[in-house]
Amino acid sequence: MLNLIGVLLTGLMMSGAAPSASAGEAKAQDASPVAIAVHGGAGTINRDDLSAEREAAIRAALESALQAGHSVLGKGGSSLDAVTAAVTVMEDSPLFNAGKGAVFNCAGVNEMDAAIMDGETWRAGAVAGLTHTKNPVLLARLVLEESPHVLLVGEGAESYGKQHGIEMVDPEYFQTEFRLEQLHALQERENVEGCGDGIAALGGFDPLSFGTVGAVALDADGNLAAATSTGGMTNKRFGRVGDVPVIGAGTYADNKTAAISATGHGEYFIRVVAAFRIASRMAFLGETVHEAANAVVMDLLKNMGGGGGVIAIDGEGNIAMPFNTSGMYRGWITVDGEMGTAIYADEKQELKQ
Ligand code: ASP
Repeated sequence: MLNLIGVLLTGLMMSGAAPSASAGEAKAQDASPVAIAVHGGAGTINRDDLSAEREAAIRAALESALQAGHSVLGKGGSSLDAVTAAVTVMEDSPLFNAGKGAVFNCAGVNEMDAAIMDGETWRAGAVAGLTHTKNPVLLARLVLEESPHVLLVGEGAESYGKQHGIEMVDPEYFQTEFRLEQLHALQERENVEGCGDGIAALGGFDPLSFGTVGAVALDADGNLAAATSTGGMTNKRFGRVGDVPVIGAGTYADNKTAAISATGHGEYFIRVVAAFRIASRMAFLGETVHEAANAVVMDLLKNMGGGGGVIAIDGEGNIAMPFNTSGMYRGWITVDGEMGTAIYADEKQELKQ
């Protein structure tokens, strides 16, 4: 496991290759299709609110994550390694609500959840309520690889991580000025301070909440994987766990249908078992990945008031990225090596081969 993490980190540091070159090269070297998609969260994202500078930085970070994942796939690496690499890059960026840059809960603490699933074997690892783990996805991966369990929480999860050499940091590492301002703005708007029983403590899906990250990938062996990582929702009650580490809700992968990573108001995604519902619609109704993802996100969740979106990829590399909010940070490298990023609803969101 430690070797794996070392290899991944080295891969990440070397992942600065030009997008089209690396994608094209990989395609030329390997006839088997590989593809990857990432998201950096869904929410109310308006053109007027996002400065050109921040938008450019977000698109660049999405591209770095895509390249990190795609370079793993291009060398014949597994989809599991690819999604781990992509999510690690986004966790290390202060721009997203995961790892560095995670939002604050109502007690002023950054409490993080993550999960990863292997579509070939249905092995899964998930962690919740982390406060010291630099890269929650690496701890989820450890749970998948080494433990007989699927979901570990809080202190127990982090002590397991420490025993296995997962990097821990002082909680200060996660505290960014940007997220602190968001916490205060939200508490002020809802007229609460700290943890009460008001709407704020329930963690309503506020425009300030978005930023969760995720990745889904298809590797040259035809295997699918999904990973998701989050700080949850701004001003959430401490101890609240969202959909991300609930396998089948925010994260799911099954080679026969799709790999799915969600972002949005987690309580709704848990109630409808969103990711598994998409896979089930494909399996039992014979829907395509686009049809199934759209039905769950644009009909079911939207009608219930569950704001958010998903990225989903099937065994042929078809990618669906529906969201029912005004924006979702997202990016892809298709089986044809085409790389792109998008933020708003009027940009491309369905990719076919
Ligand atoms: N789904 C995450 C949660 O509920 C939040 C998000 O995606 O923004 O914890």
